[in-house]
Amino acid sequence: MPKYVAIREIVEDKVPVGALELAGWIRTHRQSKRVSFIELSDGTSVSNLQLVVDPQLPGYADVAPKLATGTSIKVSGELVVSPAKGQKYEFQVKALELLGEADPESYPLQKKGHTLEFLRENLHLRPRTATMGAVLRVRSAAAFAVHRYFTERGFYYLNTPIIGTSDCEGAGEMFRVSTFDPENPPRVNGKIDFSQDFFKEPASLTVSGQLEGEICAMGLSKIYTFGPTFRAENSNTTRHLAEFWMIEPEMAFYELADNIDLAQDFVQDVMRQVLKSSASELEFLASQEWVEPGHLENLHKVSESTFSCMDYTDAIKVLESSGKTFEYPVSWGIDLQSEHERFLTDEYVKGPVTVVNYPKDIKAFYMRLNEDGKTVRAMDVLVPRLGEIIGGSQREERYDVLLEKIRAMGLDEQSYWWYLELRKFGTVPHAGFGLGFERLLMYMTGMQNIRDVMPFPRFPGFAKF
Ligand code: ATP
Ligand code: MN
Repeated sequence: MPKYVAIREIVEDKVPVGALELAGWIRTHRQSKRVSFIELSDGTSVSNLQLVVDPQLPGYADVAPKLATGTSIKVSGELVVSPAKGQKYEFQVKALELLGEADPESYPLQKKGHTLEFLRENLHLRPRTATMGAVLRVRSAAAFAVHRYFTERGFYYLNTPIIGTSDCEGAGEMFRVSTFDPENPPRVNGKIDFSQDFFKEPASLTVSGQLEGEICAMGLSKIYTFGPTFRAENSNTTRHLAEFWMIEPEMAFYELADNIDLAQDFVQDVMRQVLKSSASELEFLASQEWVEPGHLENLHKVSESTFSCMDYTDAIKVLESSGKTFEYPVSWGIDLQSEHERFLTDEYVKGPVTVVNYPKDIKAFYMRLNEDGKTVRAMDVLVPRLGEIIGGSQREERYDVLLEKIRAMGLDEQSYWWYLELRKFGTVPHAGFGLGFERLLMYMTGMQNIRDVMPFPRFPGFAKF
């Protein structure tokens, strides 16, 4: 393995001063007669390392004109404590090798700032920017924090299928999976004959791993999934992707109250872990012009204080008596729209809020019916600026009630035979939720568009790179 030292290790004081080797990309190169300075980035830290080069260094004069922004180099030399203000260390170069030039005439990422829109069209270069570098490191740290949270609490990490043959939940429009020639699929009586397709029936990409997660929880007690999900909903918003990552814990013997507690504890623990492990990244991102002042302090506060929790019915009352005119009128029975959610989080609670016990008609068939016969044990965790980041529920574990629900909603009970059998044999109360990983990342990084927290976002009209 190469023995290059990561700049992050240096910045975090994990490397003793002395001889070492570095490799990275040039951010800036300033030449003068007596000394030259190169700001080097290797994508491991928000900080660059300052390289100090004696212009007399053998070979330097030849390559110096090529050491432009974006050029990759490797260097060996000496890490020393910097005499200059504003940096702890600097690096005295003893040998420098140019790896790859970046012609200033054509390299798109010059020193000046780039708009996030511009970077979205240059996803192949985007990870080299300070902003995206920070976001992607936070993303990695958050994924680790998720696995750590659940693993330390006795949850098993399981993978549910990405391809399926039934839209079990009806959670959204699905992407089809087929090996048919789209120009000429086999037909019987004019209809496409899926019995000749790869899976012998219509198949699609998963919108959620929940139902399979329930199967596993009915055997292992506590499980979680963390995988990609796909929704072909044509929603060109700043909060929706066609491909996003979802974390879905599912727990046997948990009821709604336990589920609410877990969701809060989980979000807060991940926040605290990331606030610690990615402190410099979050600080850097919070200082960007598009982030509201006080963002970081607020995250710290949220990670420590109890989330509000309110009944859907009370939320409706709050909205009705708010004196606000909403675009979408409020009355008991409506699905909360983004404007309603934002009123509750941004203006009423001024923080995250868990809304529970929604009307049964606006929620999925598998949610447990309450004694009132009108509401189900659903819970959504809403956060300021974004609205929903978590959707979950206690599941209906009573066979008869579930069957009745499936029929009433006009779903095909045949295709749910196995889901029903879970209730026929050794059924137990259970609950779970789904957290949109990118929504959590938006919340923490302060990024305003979900496309900027996913390395390769997919959305209507775009699946490039
Ligand atoms: P929304 O109302 O925001 O569209 P939803 O109710 O359709 O979300 P669920 O089916 O409850 O979402 O999915 C669980 C979680 O997955 C949501 O709370 C959200 O964090 C995330 N999520 C849902 N759809 C998307 C999407 N298209 N892109 C990114 N994240 C999503
Ligand atoms: Mn939802």
